[in-house]
Amino acid sequence: MASRTVTTKGISAGSGEIGAVARATPLVVVGRLGGALLDLALPASCAGCAAEGTALCPECRRALQVRLALPPGVPLGLPAAMPMPLAQLEWCAPFSGTVRVALHRLKYSGERRLAAPLSEAMAARWRKAGVGGELLVPVPVHAERARRRGYDQAFLLAAGVAERLHVPWLAALERTRHTTPQFELGRRARRSNVSGAFDLRAGSGAAIWGKWPILVDDVVTTGSTLVACAEVLYEAGAIAVSALAVARER
Ligand SMILES: [Zn+2]
Repeated sequence: MASRTVTTKGISAGSGEIGAVARATPLVVVGRLGGALLDLALPASCAGCAAEGTALCPECRRALQVRLALPPGVPLGLPAAMPMPLAQLEWCAPFSGTVRVALHRLKYSGERRLAAPLSEAMAARWRKAGVGGELLVPVPVHAERARRRGYDQAFLLAAGVAERLHVPWLAALERTRHTTPQFELGRRARRSNVSGAFDLRAGSGAAIWGKWPILVDDVVTTGSTLVACAEVLYEAGAIAVSALAVARER
């Protein structure tokens, strides 16, 4: 069943990504090393309360648990509509307060240490509410953006959830064109912005055919991005597609 690129910890897919980054220009590589050293040099501070020594302290992690006890599919003052054709959409918390700051730091401040508590929360929610699904597939940023950032935050989240749920993950999708950040657009424009923006990564077809992938993303708004990704996976022979995110935005 498992193809060469699907492993319990997604090692092949993950190291393939690292390999792609390492082949970038020397300047970019130096920049990445500099970033890595900076991460080690700076002590973490909590995204919620600024306490030192942790990217997210135990007290502030509670912000990620507000939906933990809810049955599957129950909204919490947020849109209930299931973006079609998803079989299930689960998330941990509304996109606000500490959760919003934490995701912003993960995406824009290089705070990779947040991937651990965020993926822990996602795994906890899926253990509680997840139905079906056998393979985690991150919603990728454009390769160029991942190179500039040094990583793709959805890959970090997918790898973290995979490790905790003992489910394989695979970077099966690629973003084939740049898209405007969804938050800058109105609801109607969001669908056309991401429609056709994703494609199956070469060599991923066999791993998707007949499978039930779970898309992994940081924030869900209208769900247009998830729908665009799901359409590619259905096209590749997926029998169902679910999704798991850290947060949902109004
Ligand atoms: Zn805190």
